[in-house]
Amino acid sequence: MAKKRNTGVGAMMRGQCPRCREGKIFVSARAYRWDKITAMPDACPVCGEDFLREPGFYFGAAYVSYALTVALWVSVFVALTCLNWWGLMAFSFFEDVGLFLTTGIVLLIFLLPMIARLSRSMWLHMMTRRHRK
Ligand SMILES: [Zn+2]
Repeated sequence: MAKKRNTGVGAMMRGQCPRCREGKIFVSARAYRWDKITAMPDACPVCGEDFLREPGFYFGAAYVSYALTVALWVSVFVALTCLNWWGLMAFSFFEDVGLFLTTGIVLLIFLLPMIARLSRSMWLHMMTRRHRK
């Protein structure tokens, strides 16, 4: 049986080290453990890649988080518009702003830990060169 290929995108989504794609980036596997949402080890437990880099390194993850949040709001708009087109519910952006905002804010609060982790993982993957064996 062929060994399953661990792609960079897959490692990024799973929160694995960008260099070896095996070590975990986050201390806790559970994203919804509130005290350890973005807790990270100092270095990769497998290859020793430095996760701390420099003070303020993860400030750049805020830009990624912003892009993910914009994508979430666009997705909410598209989903509500499609539900309107399919006749499953009535939605007009200018008449149902409250529905749009409520849906987006509830989703954003629910997905906040996932977005925070994914943006850090994406930022780390963008700034790290892959280790060639
Ligand atoms: Zn590693």
